[in-house]
Amino acid sequence: MLDLQTTSSPDNEKIKNVEVLYGHSQSEISENLKNYNIPLKQNSMRTKQLWNWMFLRGISDFSVIKNMPKDLLHQLSSDYTLKRNSISVEKRSNDGTIKWLLKLSNNGLSTTNEIETVFIPEEKRGTLCISSQIGCTLNCSFCHTGTQKLIRNLTTEEIISQLLIAKDKLNDWHGNNPNNTRKITNIVMMGMGEPLYNFEAVKKALLIMTDCDGLALSKRRVTLSTSGIVPFMERVGKEIGVSLAVSLHSAKDDVRDILVPINKKYPIRELINACENYPTIKNSSKITFEYVMLRDINDSIQDAKDLAKLLQNIPSKINLIPFNPWPGNNYQCSDMDQIKKFAEVLNSAGFSCPIRKPRGQDIMAACGQLKSETVRLRKKN
Ligand code: SAH
Ligand code: SF4
Repeated sequence: MLDLQTTSSPDNEKIKNVEVLYGHSQSEISENLKNYNIPLKQNSMRTKQLWNWMFLRGISDFSVIKNMPKDLLHQLSSDYTLKRNSISVEKRSNDGTIKWLLKLSNNGLSTTNEIETVFIPEEKRGTLCISSQIGCTLNCSFCHTGTQKLIRNLTTEEIISQLLIAKDKLNDWHGNNPNNTRKITNIVMMGMGEPLYNFEAVKKALLIMTDCDGLALSKRRVTLSTSGIVPFMERVGKEIGVSLAVSLHSAKDDVRDILVPINKKYPIRELINACENYPTIKNSSKITFEYVMLRDINDSIQDAKDLAKLLQNIPSKINLIPFNPWPGNNYQCSDMDQIKKFAEVLNSAGFSCPIRKPRGQDIMAACGQLKSETVRLRKKN
């Protein structure tokens, strides 16, 4: 760990009282602008200008806008804010991974509402891992977030704010440096929470992030990860059009029932049917299956053969994820030798199955771990 920054900021208070403009779609902004005293024929130009300042230049204050009338900016700034949520903790790993703990509004309650966002730089891409809920209802037995009860769903603007904050911190605003290569090229909805239990807010946020006039992330480079909420999976493909990742972790119902208890409601056969019918599969894009490697639980050669058989009809990539241990959990990560043998079985059955490199281990990068650790330290002090 190189850097630890703790701040307390009043920004959340302000965010509470006025609407956050970057949580609105272009058509909503256009509609809202009709309430202001501007000629109708300028509506579309003003909408585009606001979109451009917010999502290409990353402004967080209306007063820096140069090409709009002062009185309009004044009115906008009394009705809306562009502020981000504040950062409570920032941790930087020796491997370049950065993890932010962000403070969200608690609607006047005494809870500390915090979520995690993680930036993972690699040679050819930079991935931002975004949260969709504060906590999670699903209690997967190997997941640290599963130990934190659900406080609430994130709003659209809180989901987008995670990307804006990361871009601010990384100086990744394209409009300011058109020739610079982007630092954040990929988004994964793999932070805290189950995105399909917050479908509408997640959908709107991802559509704003992939809008080609603004943040313009490629839909192929945005991945939504689900534990397998079957009724919503088709809607992800049809209404959002991003890539899908499914947290499978076992090809056997009795094992998956324990690892991912939602399996009792949506068992493997139903999950696989939903994957086989996933809309973008017809355009030959693959579904990613996440498979956490747990010693003596799901890592035998027979488990690998069962997995290959289960996925034989689905264009898939299988991400083998070494288990990221956390205090109080009894699972152990499989030995690297075993993970390699497991991968060989899948490779020879024709699957691409990268072994995920553990990142940011020195900064508690396991999902939900920084939040719990920070809460624990605060209680202690
Ligand atoms: N709720 C969604 C997305 C968030 S979890 C889902 O379950 O898919 C993102 C991924 O991290 C999931 O594949 C999850 O199984 C995995 N994960 C959670 N805790 C982990 C741990 N301790 N070690 C390795 N992977 C973990
Ligand atoms: Fe929730 Fe995903 Fe963790 Fe399961 S793995 S508890 S669904 S965040």
